[in-house]
Amino acid sequence: MDYHSDHQPRVVIIGAGFAGLGAAATLVKHGVTNLVILEALDRAGGRVLTHKPFGAAALELGATWIHGQKGNPLYKMAKERGLLAEEGSNMVSCQPASVTPEDYFFNEQGKQLPPSQVEKVTCFFNRLMSQINQEDYKPECESWSVGEYLDSEFALSNLSKAEGSESIYEWCKRLECVDEACNSMYEFSLNQLSLYTALDGPFYNSLGSKGYQGVLDVLIDQLPSNTLRCHKPVQCIHWEGSSSISKESKHPVNVVCADGEQFPADHAIVTVSLGCLKERASTLFDPPLPNGKTEAIQRLGFGTVAKIFLEFSEPFWPDDCAGIQLVWEQGPESPKGYSDGCKKQSWRSEWFKKIGGFDCVPMHKSTLCGWITGLAAEHMETLPESEVGEVCVSLLKKFTGWPVTELRGVLRSRWHSNPYIRGSYTNVPLGVDAVKEQMALAEPLPSTYQRKIQQPLQVLFAGEATHPNFYTTTHGAYMSGIREAERLIKLYENKAQPRL
Ligand SMILES: Cc1cc2nc3c(=O)[nH]c(=O)nc-3n(C[C@H](O)[C@H](O)[C@H](O)COP(=O)(O)OP(=O)(O)OC[C@H]3O[C@@H](n4cnc5c(N)ncnc54)[C@H](O)[C@@H]3O)c2cc1C
Repeated sequence: MDYHSDHQPRVVIIGAGFAGLGAAATLVKHGVTNLVILEALDRAGGRVLTHKPFGAAALELGATWIHGQKGNPLYKMAKERGLLAEEGSNMVSCQPASVTPEDYFFNEQGKQLPPSQVEKVTCFFNRLMSQINQEDYKPECESWSVGEYLDSEFALSNLSKAEGSESIYEWCKRLECVDEACNSMYEFSLNQLSLYTALDGPFYNSLGSKGYQGVLDVLIDQLPSNTLRCHKPVQCIHWEGSSSISKESKHPVNVVCADGEQFPADHAIVTVSLGCLKERASTLFDPPLPNGKTEAIQRLGFGTVAKIFLEFSEPFWPDDCAGIQLVWEQGPESPKGYSDGCKKQSWRSEWFKKIGGFDCVPMHKSTLCGWITGLAAEHMETLPESEVGEVCVSLLKKFTGWPVTELRGVLRSRWHSNPYIRGSYTNVPLGVDAVKEQMALAEPLPSTYQRKIQQPLQVLFAGEATHPNFYTTTHGAYMSGIREAERLIKLYENKAQPRL
């Protein structure tokens, strides 16, 4: 579409993650260049953060993989530009959600668990999870949590009678919390799990030496200069009905930053995380959001997943080791561990029990990456990095009995502590109707159902949480940005050719 500069709608995008960049690149592609992206942080990328702290190779503090290939626009983009890791290279390994034969499992007595037993339990667990994902579960259990259902199936299986299998099964639940960004599988809805769509093709696609930053750069390079304004936290989005918008104003929207700078606009596309909306929606919009949207923000879940990178002077694990997994006898995943956690808030004193294990990091031969989720992860973020490192080293010594080499560096993510992120990604808590809430979240303002609209599509909503099938992912975020940009483009196309 060709817009003449004096007729161009003015668009302000709030947030420069994949959703914001996807929206901006799409608008630019269609000739809409009267736009600005306001980003609170000092960088674009949001929950994507490629770091190079321990040497030249990239470490990802946020998103690591491109999930699935067929129909994934980010996979296509990365492949076409040679940004993917070469197939077969060691960058393609490290996959937290699947256990490889090279994972070493230890219990807290320092005993390595027999790989055959680990394999039996993890295969059983993965089979159950894939049945749940395909809605192949007992219909009478529909309103249960995933944790309850898994427990009941495990109890019925022969595996539950084999000594030592239960603690491995509990470990599987802990690992699953990474995928679902949840505190516990008991808080997570069974009948909503299948809404997430896994795209065909290998699920874990790793990026090459430029990391995820390389993909972000493809989008950033498509923007006209000065489109991206960093260090610009937005304080309030005034839209139709706000007393601060004068009747004479040509623009129905006014976006005000914390430093006082104002950005009058025809449309604002809000891409801030669900975590930010939960914390700040009541002051971020004037007039306030309608009830349906506020309820959707409250009802959908936004959990924390954190990574702890540990750099050692040299590897102390065998060459064939892909990861060191920690199996507790009475972990936070067991029904008792969970109820104790709720009562005694043990995630504060025993936060480290929520670390699933430490994976070897491709291209960093002396580095391990620990994964931790939920309230324990949020607590871990508040501790000094040195304390986190010491606790991890003592766990590694206790479980493996191996001579742990000198710890040279610690780097952990702090997504929950970040005031402009407030967690990691969306999940669907027990009893929530995800389709209904995601539709309410994505609904533009003023609502299309309202009558006498002065100007439609004043405030639009994108971001990972608004995608009905690909929520939690970078491609979901990116596609939601494209969706909102296309909504605007369609509006102007319809205006140019009014229907008779
Ligand atoms: C640890 C971790 C691992 C992950 N792993 C994967 C993975 O392997 N694969 C995958 O596909 N996905 C993964 N994800 C999820 C993926 O990173 C996100 O779904 C995606 O990046 C979200 O993009 P977004 O644009 O919706 O939101 P964000 O990236 O959160 O972007 C929103 C932007 O808005 C800005 N903002 C917030 N408030 C304001 C304000 N008031 N004013 C101005 N700007 C503001 C923020 O600073 C941020 O830059 C992971 C996430 C985490 C945290």
